[in-house]
Amino acid sequence: MYRIVRVAQGHVPRGPTLTQPVGSCLCEAISFDVVGELRGVLHCHCVNCRKSSGNFVASSGCPTDALTIHDPDEQLRWYDLGFCRYGFCATCGSRLFWQGADHMEHTSIQAGVIDDASQLALDGVWFAHDAQPHNSPDPAVPHFSGNGDLD
Ligand SMILES: [Zn+2]
Ligand SMILES: [Zn+2]
Repeated sequence: MYRIVRVAQGHVPRGPTLTQPVGSCLCEAISFDVVGELRGVLHCHCVNCRKSSGNFVASSGCPTDALTIHDPDEQLRWYDLGFCRYGFCATCGSRLFWQGADHMEHTSIQAGVIDDASQLALDGVWFAHDAQPHNSPDPAVPHFSGNGDLD
């Protein structure tokens, strides 16, 4: 459950409330907003996530059609592994997105690029058996082995 309600001072909102979780890469060349809720955070310790991010990945996500990417200078690049691809900023290198080739209707969003992730809980750990010893996953969080539906 994640909500930011943007209301100008003195403005009384009417009708349905638009929720827009927002975030950006480090240099802010790329920003994004999401209409609706973000899913809970999943950690992934697979070697692809590890190498592409520099550590294990913590990602939230949303339906792709709920995601609006603002990229006026066309800095978003995708590193494509065939079965999935990682989206990153060409200027600052921030990893922002992940999409699986078999379920492009969902986009994972790196939790760290979300401006306020205070309402997002950790829901699970993928590839826990591949975790490096210094990143031992919490055994109290559900662990999943192999490829899950979402990353
Ligand atoms: Zn950037
Ligand atoms: Zn992974």
